[in-house]
Amino acid sequence: MYDIIIVGAGPAGLTAAIYACRAEKTTLVLEAKTYGGQIINTPDIANYPVAPGISGFDFATTLYNQAKDLGAEIRFEKVTELIDGDVKTVVTPKQRYEAKAVILATGAENRKLGVDGEDALIGRGVSYCATCDGNFYRKKVVAVVGGGNTAVEDALYLADLAAKVYLIHRRDAFRADASLVSRLKEKENVELVLNATVTKLLHNMRLTGVEVTDKTTGEARVLDVNGLFVAVGQVPENENFRSLIDLDAGGYAVAGEDCHTKCPGVYVAGDNRAKTVRQLVTAAADGAVAATEAIRELESC
Ligand code: NAP
Repeated sequence: MYDIIIVGAGPAGLTAAIYACRAEKTTLVLEAKTYGGQIINTPDIANYPVAPGISGFDFATTLYNQAKDLGAEIRFEKVTELIDGDVKTVVTPKQRYEAKAVILATGAENRKLGVDGEDALIGRGVSYCATCDGNFYRKKVVAVVGGGNTAVEDALYLADLAAKVYLIHRRDAFRADASLVSRLKEKENVELVLNATVTKLLHNMRLTGVEVTDKTTGEARVLDVNGLFVAVGQVPENENFRSLIDLDAGGYAVAGEDCHTKCPGVYVAGDNRAKTVRQLVTAAADGAVAATEAIRELESC
């Protein structure tokens, strides 16, 4: 029996683990994939206080080691079910674990574009991670789809590797930070394809091009590209907990700034929580709040 089980080893989950361990609570972190969450794909974190320029991988590894060194037990198992009761039961394909409190810090996964052939071309020209796969496209032509921070950061990163980068976005205004967009516009090998959507993936075993359609004129044109990096946002990973917590229309867990869900003893922290600002710093803040709330309630029992 653990005091606190944390589901997810991203910035929110690992920060929660640090707080739980420092309060001397027995803490298990369960992670389905690898530690670090989405930030591991960011080459250069520019907006985290006191750590300008750190890579997402270095940030995540330091955080992981910090949580481990403080005594967090971290296991790589996917949580498939959470059963409520005086004691919470957390189920994975390998085992059932018990805890007095559970923090859901499952984050979100990449949203697919939804164009025919996308799944079959993953690893054959279609990628969701520029820092993982960018190297395969040195001196080649690539496209990035999306208008948020991830897409613009990916395009900036790829512009230093590839011969040419198209950034395809469905509007002419970006969600990404203005400073990132300004830096992108200075890159000579980046072409913005705005008000356009990807309507077809062209391939011959591997991706050979994308058809983009202008939303205003309806005209389609083909961009000959070797790689397509999809960065169109995320989908929260809350489905396995739907029976215990409320989800909003987008699938995000409904919880206030205190991170409490409607299920006593179950908290939610990070990008899978319904909120307006999803940043590294707010994920870490959620982890701290959720753990502090869990500790407070455990100690008041
Ligand atoms: P995001 O901010 O949700 O942006 C997704 C982008 O994809 C939007 O521009 C959206 O267009 C577009 N889009 C969504 N669905 C689409 C579809 N089906 N087809 C074409 N385009 C589509 O996602 P994100 O860039 O991954 O960022 C997620 C969160 O992480 C954000 O809060 C972001 O600020 C944060 N982040 C922070 C950093 C950093 O701090 N360094 C780095 C990366 C990400 P519309 O604009 O038209 O909706």
